[in-house]
Amino acid sequence: MANRRAGNLVAKHPPKRCDVCGRVFVPHSGRALYCPMCRIKGRRWIKEQRKGMAANERA
Ligand SMILES: [Zn+2]
Repeated sequence: MANRRAGNLVAKHPPKRCDVCGRVFVPHSGRALYCPMCRIKGRRWIKEQRKGMAANERA
């Protein structure tokens, strides 16, 4: 309780970084991996993005 993060007083969960775009978002559930904007595009799109990211890291 003492270490509660400031910034979003309504959030139940601490901010997370989207696994795809790296954006910080506040998940509605503790399991969320992706920001709403990426989730709305679908799992398939996410998969492709992650694939592309991995390729970029190696290049
Ligand atoms: Zn995202």
